[in-house]
Amino acid sequence: MSVILKIAVQKSGRLYEGSMHLLKECGIEVGNGNNQLRVISGNFPVEIFFLRDDDIPEYVQDAVADIGFVGENVMKEKNKSVNAIEKLEFGKCRLSIAVPKSGTLQSINDLSGKKIATSYPVILSEYLEQKNITASIHEISGSVEIAPRIGLADAICDLVSSGSTLFTNELKEIETILFSEALLISNKNLSAEKKIILDRLLFRIRSVKKARNNKYVLLNAPNDKIDAIISLLPGMKSPTILPLAEPGWSSIHSVINETDFWNVIEQLKANGAQGILIIPIEKMII
Ligand code: ATP
Ligand code: MG
Repeated sequence: MSVILKIAVQKSGRLYEGSMHLLKECGIEVGNGNNQLRVISGNFPVEIFFLRDDDIPEYVQDAVADIGFVGENVMKEKNKSVNAIEKLEFGKCRLSIAVPKSGTLQSINDLSGKKIATSYPVILSEYLEQKNITASIHEISGSVEIAPRIGLADAICDLVSSGSTLFTNELKEIETILFSEALLISNKNLSAEKKIILDRLLFRIRSVKKARNNKYVLLNAPNDKIDAIISLLPGMKSPTILPLAEPGWSSIHSVINETDFWNVIEQLKANGAQGILIIPIEKMII
């Protein structure tokens, strides 16, 4: 039988969509799982296992799955022996300490001798130790945000993305202890054949990530401005320059980074660029 790489993906929840979307963008066909525990891809040697995110690090450690997509927060908390291979740029959130808005607690130094409710006792205790704070940790598995209101704890340590859950529960964030996003983790003892499949998958994931972070740009410029404009647009190797039918003008094609995007566009316009088109890139192979 030919070798197949087993991938653990969250069965439902905040990482499911991002994980399945990434596989799809990598050209890997899998059904949506429809309540199945596992599905095999029809066009790439992988099999997807749908699991609770908490179990993924252990399953990858024990080689039930070869690799997995899981939050950095869960990987750190579970502290299993796995390799962190690649950040996946979705599932972004932070693990923060929050306190009641109206109370007397203002900073983490006020937490000495207090009770903190969390689903992340390992990360929190390590953090408190580092800061030399002695507080008691009350572990709960869900709805951490209501703990102060029902008198279960003085503060909480929980995941935050927009902050709306904290707001609704009249809590304020006083300290962020971890920034997290989804990660690809792998078993430490993959066979050579499985490593080859993982490398093929990683190549695709990196191409998708690069494409998402870059845009293709086309613009028209007077010939005397070409030097100034290409200094703003280094491109992959160097920009492409084609003459326009109108004498004295050229069309310039290049790639720009999403993060510099607006700054670069403003400078291009200031340098006489016209008819600027920005086009999403589907895959980027360098
Ligand atoms: P499961 O049933 O699989 O155990 P869960 O309830 O533990 O699911 P989700 O709430 O679906 O988990 O979150 C999964 C992961 O999504 C988190 O561990 C975290 O890495 C990421 N995440 C991103 N944004 C948030 C957020 N605002 N709140 C919680 N998790 C978030
Ligand atoms: Mg979970």
